[in-house]
Amino acid sequence: MEIVEFNRNQMETIKRTNILVTSQRKLVITSGQTSEIPLCAECSSSMIPAQISADYFGVSSRIIYRFIEQQRIHFVENKISEIHICIASAKEALELNP
Ligand SMILES: [Zn+2]
Repeated sequence: MEIVEFNRNQMETIKRTNILVTSQRKLVITSGQTSEIPLCAECSSSMIPAQISADYFGVSSRIIYRFIEQQRIHFVENKISEIHICIASAKEALELNP
């Protein structure tokens, strides 16, 4: 957006440029093999890696790990110690105690 002002005292043209900057975050969840993403054994909901779930829900990772420790959300740990959490139970836990 460009605004041109005329300054009477100095008889000169002042050119002002306003730049509007917006940003948007897009979280893309990918996996090398879709079969690696498990479904929740308790409620069949989709699961996501715990380390990206905080971004997914817009909360701190401490909250997610606290829910895991308190067993308030469904989760699984695979052979290489990666934790996946159940999206449905995490959503429910966050609604009850954000
Ligand atoms: Zn579940």
